Amino acid sequence: MVDHLSIADRVARIRGTIDDTLSRTGQKNRYVKIVAVTKTRTADEMIEAARSGVDAIGENRVQEALDKRAKWPEDIKTPWHMVGHLQRNKARKALEVFSCIQSLSRRRLADTLQRLMEEKDDRLPVLMEVNISGEESKHGVEPKHAEELAEYILGFCDQLKLEGLMGIAPFTENEKRVRSSFSQLRDLRDRLSGRLDVELPTLSMGMSNDYLAAVAEGSTMVRIGTALFGNRKTTG
Ligand SMILES: *Cc1c(COP(=O)(O)O)cnc(C)c1O
Repeated sequence: MVDHLSIADRVARIRGTIDDTLSRTGQKNRYVKIVAVTKTRTADEMIEAARSGVDAIGENRVQEALDKRAKWPEDIKTPWHMVGHLQRNKARKALEVFSCIQSLSRRRLADTLQRLMEEKDDRLPVLMEVNISGEESKHGVEPKHAEELAEYILGFCDQLKLEGLMGIAPFTENEKRVRSSFSQLRDLRDRLSGRLDVELPTLSMGMSNDYLAAVAEGSTMVRIGTALFGNRKTTG
């Protein structure tokens, strides 16, 4: 990215485009949260984003998050969300930094988180990550198994608070496919919510390249890295 905007300017610009899309698509009264995805970014960049009013910080790796958390000013209350693949042997450490796990897609991880939260006698907000890419992927439960997993979490993991779904669109220039993956996630949320009789208010979908399509399709939370901080030197 070669513009000379500050992170604060970019937050404002992204917020503006989200609001335009909301009014253009008849959703004026909705608020969409912005998660600043900060893999590979410095603590200083993250602090600037938090002070500029993003709603949450999103990290992909536990150790990287812990390292940066050590430099985090106490007065900034912005919550941290885990958006990357979480290994069970890192779950305990993860709970030192994250107040929401967006990438829950396996029973065994749900069991581990359940047990850890029993110890803390507290509840953990989670999102179920669904594979909406239409491709084989380690990330996210397959849509056809989503109901089974949601039922399991609701039935057996009372320390977890299932708040909604997260998804990553296919990596393609084909806007129609991207958009239909978002509508698929929204439809799945509506169906699960009805069949399991549970509110699932959060739809975490949309990244730098596709967040406006996601907002048009009902996203309540966009996860933005590149459009806030510029291109990453390494992949996260
Ligand atoms: C990296 C990442 C993002 C942000 O990607 P950008 O294209 O840089 O906005 C969002 N969600 C997840 C799960 C990510 O890993």
